[in-house]
Amino acid sequence: MRDHLRENLDRVIHNIEQARLSVSGHHIVKLVAVGKYTEIENIQSLYELGQRAFGENQVQQLESRANQLIELPIEWHMIGTLQKNKINKLIKLNPFLIHSIDSIDLALALDSRLQNSDNQKLDALMQINSSGEITKSGIEAEKAIELYHEMQERCTNIDFQGVMSIGANSDDRSEVQRNFETTYAVFEKLKKSGANICSMGMSGDYELAIKCGSNLVRVGSKIFR
Ligand SMILES: *Cc1c(COP(=O)(O)O)cnc(C)c1O
Repeated sequence: MRDHLRENLDRVIHNIEQARLSVSGHHIVKLVAVGKYTEIENIQSLYELGQRAFGENQVQQLESRANQLIELPIEWHMIGTLQKNKINKLIKLNPFLIHSIDSIDLALALDSRLQNSDNQKLDALMQINSSGEITKSGIEAEKAIELYHEMQERCTNIDFQGVMSIGANSDDRSEVQRNFETTYAVFEKLKKSGANICSMGMSGDYELAIKCGSNLVRVGSKIFR
């Protein structure tokens, strides 16, 4: 399994490298390895192969893994939909970055719990639903800029670092590309407000996402399967 993981990781890193160089030598892309389909042993193996940033889409799973691997200097990312009843648990875990702030309601709830928790601060991204699919969470692209500013203003304990989006679940590459371009356009406009992370791209579309400007990809199955 370890050799298999090494091959997968090498391949993904190679592909990221090719895609990023096609944008620019100065375009740096971060890889977050998504462990939701795998066993904790494989996360540890990937860590030993040099990977440091890991993502989980459930608070429960993040908690269990972060606690079991507490000795390792892993950077944990919360990438999945956050339910309000899990906020306190998540705050205690102090993740490196929350990718999935998908409503002003959630932002305000998180912010007030942070204030009550010794004025703790957290970094987060606003999730944009650029495909418009009703099954996906996230803020409509048309409202994203205004809401981002409103969240920044009202949520003093959340440091907004940029945007996140999940590409359309479609075989039509041009549709996926349009979604990424929509998200990237929002990101560009938010740069002057401090946005520096554009989190887009998963196993099926990370190269395309990078070509559209993503600087953080979240890859699970192409590494762990
Ligand atoms: C599962 C998941 C990923 C990784 O998905 P793969 O297609 O396996 O790479 C990325 N982002 C989010 C939000 C996820 O839930």
